Amino acid sequence: MPKPRRPKLGQHFLADVRYRSRIVQALGLRPDDLVIEIGPGHGAITPLVAAQARQVAAVELDPALAAELQQKFQQEPRVEVINADILATDLAAICRRFQARECFIFGNLPYYITSPIIHHLLEFAGSIRAMGLLVQREVAERLAARPGSRDYGYLTVLAGLYASPHVALEVPPGAFSPPPKVHSALVCFEMHSPDARIGRGRERKFQTFLKQCFAHKRKKLLNCLAEAYPRERVEQELERLNVPLKARAEQLSLNDFISLFSNLCP
Ligand code: SAM
Repeated sequence: MPKPRRPKLGQHFLADVRYRSRIVQALGLRPDDLVIEIGPGHGAITPLVAAQARQVAAVELDPALAAELQQKFQQEPRVEVINADILATDLAAICRRFQARECFIFGNLPYYITSPIIHHLLEFAGSIRAMGLLVQREVAERLAARPGSRDYGYLTVLAGLYASPHVALEVPPGAFSPPPKVHSALVCFEMHSPDARIGRGRERKFQTFLKQCFAHKRKKLLNCLAEAYPRERVEQELERLNVPLKARAEQLSLNDFISLFSNLCP
């Protein structure tokens, strides 16, 4: 049987010109922004972004596309093409290189690595002013979910630590070439500093704590945390927060997780 055609490196190019400009309008770019674009592809959206910003650093993994982009933008000083894997790219170093304190991240993401990309970006949260990411609609819903809702989970809480993501625009499969199997949505993030109760330099520890909380989807939070902390201590802290002992992690707000963390891991 012939194999179904699978675009390599998640290459679904945004072919619909109306969606290109609707997306760029929704980003809220500022004239002094340094934009790091993830996966510029053939550079369909890059000039629209460059027109609204000071500089674009466009990070493309595919060497053939990167060469095409270098050719296309050789007369455009505001676009610098970087042939690299975004997952191995030091975003703070790009900011330093372009003398920017912070950057704006934009990308029509390659969906096969959406989650690793978001985790990588959040590692550089302190160097990011805002982000606009085109992702699968279900990931967008997870990022913007409310506690207790079906989509709320680990990624929601982690993203909420650094931003209040909201879904700005939905994009149908027909806007891309080739069309993906899923619907897409643009999620916008205005970044903020993590809550001071986490403690300086303890974001990674909080991330590990969150992973413990969400480790077993169907287990009570108490049982998840009792694997790492004395059960009685966890019970005490949950009671102090007025969280029912049978609650699951999906029912707690970011604020609850921060209180629990700062009391259980002082
Ligand atoms: N921005 C273009 C557009 O909207 O038409 C292309 C978007 S396409 C969904 C994703 C792009 O990301 C492709 O150009 C692909 O080659 C690139 N890509 C895939 N993996 C990457 C990685 N790890 N680092 C950087 N770019 C990557």
